[in-house]
Amino acid sequence: MEMILRLEDITAFYDHKPAVSNLTMGIEKNRITAVIGPSGCGKSTLLRCMNRMLEEEPGAEVTGNIFLSGKDIRQIPKNELRRRVGLVFQTPAPFPFSIYKNMAYAPKYYGLRDGWKLQELIAEKLKLAGLYDEVKDNLGSSAVKLSGGQQQRLCIARALTAEPDILLLDEPCSSLDIRSAAIIENLLLELKKSYTIVLVTHNIAQAKRLADQVAFLYGGELVEYSAKAAFFAAPRQKQTADFLGGMCG
Ligand code: ADP
Repeated sequence: MEMILRLEDITAFYDHKPAVSNLTMGIEKNRITAVIGPSGCGKSTLLRCMNRMLEEEPGAEVTGNIFLSGKDIRQIPKNELRRRVGLVFQTPAPFPFSIYKNMAYAPKYYGLRDGWKLQELIAEKLKLAGLYDEVKDNLGSSAVKLSGGQQQRLCIARALTAEPDILLLDEPCSSLDIRSAAIIENLLLELKKSYTIVLVTHNIAQAKRLADQVAFLYGGELVEYSAKAAFFAAPRQKQTADFLGGMCG
């Protein structure tokens, strides 16, 4: 199994206080890795270490090493790193422009000038995100007029236009109704054929449905990390069993 991302002894601080401590783990290629744990255990912080977004926050600091396909991410220019490791937020956040402009933004930034190629790319990624049929006749209309679920699929499609290797998703369904959440869940299962997905979720049932690997964080520490079947059927740590049994979090 190929590890696309390798985290070694990562500690992440806010104002010198650790929110993630001494964490070592590998992320497998073309798999969905779910990161679960109670609120405040460091899931979001960990995710933002993976594309160096955390360091942009005043007072935040990260120690340890992260390797993307074997290369230290500090050796990769930040704009390239963030192209290859895309982040989709909890609340859908399309730019307040047309659907087309949302989709054209990253490819233009990364130098795509050919109008036909751009249109092709936009159609391809909207199709991948399962949104094309719903918006193909309205690409010029405002992205913020879409429903919440459509906006989130647009944000995923937009992240795909940068041709990432890895998609980081921070609770992508938490603001959506059940039907929209189910559409996104099915979409993620499709997308893992072409992309590696790291999914932060507080929803144990969602992790059960989607994950190949599950990481359980508690108090900033990686308590347990294993393949889904083993994780849920036979957790090795008492803290994991307590969390899954609803005893904590
Ligand atoms: P989770 O995603 O699991 O809910 P977070 O990664 O958001 O957890 O938070 C982990 C810890 O770091 C929490 O104690 C939280 O209060 C703290 N924290 C998160 N963001 C900041 C910040 N910007 N400044 C200071 N502390 C923060």
